[in-house]
Amino acid sequence: MKSTIVTIGDEILIGQILDTNSQYISQALNRIGVVVAERTSIGDSAEQILATLDRALDRSDIVVITGGLGPTKDDITKHTLARYFNSELIYNSNEGEFIETLLARRGIPFTELNRGQAFVPECCTVLHNAHGTAPGMWFEKGGKVVISLPGVPFEMKHLNDDTVVPMLSSRFALKSIVHRTMITSGIPESLLAEQIASWEDNLPAELHLAYLPAPNVVRLRLSAYEVDGQSVSRTIDKEFDKLKQIIPQAIVGFENATVEQLVHSWMVENGKTLSVAESCTGGALAAKFTAMAGASAYFNAGVVSYSNEAKRDILGVNMEDIARYGAVSEAVAIQMAEGALRAGGSDYAVSTTGIAGPTGGSAEKPVGTVWFGVATPKGSFAVMKNCGTDRSQIIDRAVAHAIKLLYENL
Ligand code: ATP
Ligand code: MG
Repeated sequence: MKSTIVTIGDEILIGQILDTNSQYISQALNRIGVVVAERTSIGDSAEQILATLDRALDRSDIVVITGGLGPTKDDITKHTLARYFNSELIYNSNEGEFIETLLARRGIPFTELNRGQAFVPECCTVLHNAHGTAPGMWFEKGGKVVISLPGVPFEMKHLNDDTVVPMLSSRFALKSIVHRTMITSGIPESLLAEQIASWEDNLPAELHLAYLPAPNVVRLRLSAYEVDGQSVSRTIDKEFDKLKQIIPQAIVGFENATVEQLVHSWMVENGKTLSVAESCTGGALAAKFTAMAGASAYFNAGVVSYSNEAKRDILGVNMEDIARYGAVSEAVAIQMAEGALRAGGSDYAVSTTGIAGPTGGSAEKPVGTVWFGVATPKGSFAVMKNCGTDRSQIIDRAVAHAIKLLYENL
């Protein structure tokens, strides 16, 4: 079963927003065994919509469209779909009443424009949108399906998950694709590929391997079509078991878990607490932890000590050490981590101090040099790593490395 995803909106084409809807829908379709053969973004233009629909229906069995369902003149998807399917727009009183109630609850008057949102092409099945004023629509033509969803991501997600996925699963006999992911850390992608080359060469033909590199982490994803019940999952498990023998020290988790999620789970399960002290990462490290729901169970404090004085006053870093070794040094990284441990009253702490650039580098400590301090119940230490040349890349890599170091020392 093949599909095309079409996202509509001038704002996507001018780069004002990122098309995250396509990514979300791709994942959802893949999970139920619908291959996404193509993704297209087009402007709010009737000609483009009509031409794209023709092309998409030519190649795919399912077309999922998002965007352009708003009440304003620039949102033309619904009228264009009515035209495409030769269908009149008729008033749907259920939707009309719902929109009126929804707006009343938000204290917004029900205008002619909103009333217009309750008009839907006569030939479609209305997909009720419980979270917004634009209903979704389901069209059928020659055994193929066209689905139109609102552009607002959370409305799209609810409609997709609650309505579209179940409807597609019952409408088509779908063969689901199984994806399983192993997360490795510590071996760069090219080296990893060498180490597991013979395993890769001997994979069963039905399994497809993908390398997904990210800072400090390489995910290995095995995918296959489900043939009969659990058999593909079992085959994948067996292959992952073999990998565990080949690279035992590199495997840090499975599926979509990030290393910070692994730290999070470990902290919660073991009842331990964490603090961080940051210089060059400026709070980005703390944000990784606080972004996860439930972080308050273990995350005690994050200190952004950017100046030397802040390092001294908040974390107790020795000014003479800063003068002697520099702020980017082993001694300062250790003292920052220990200071965070004390200030936060926590069991574990990790620190970053580095040169994010573009200026401030030297021959001895070039831009990208970052020292990481780790303080644990067993003691403290620091390591240095060069995190690249571009400021935002250096910050991202430093954050990823700090989390990995912490994880390795839990
Ligand atoms: P509404 O009824 O709320 O107006 P709509 O279906 O008309 O919804 P749009 O007007 O196209 O949707 O988009 C509404 C908002 O949703 C946009 O401002 C944009 O921020 C977001 N959005 C639209 N399309 C996408 C997309 N493909 N990916 C991510 N966000 C999107
Ligand atoms: Mg729009």
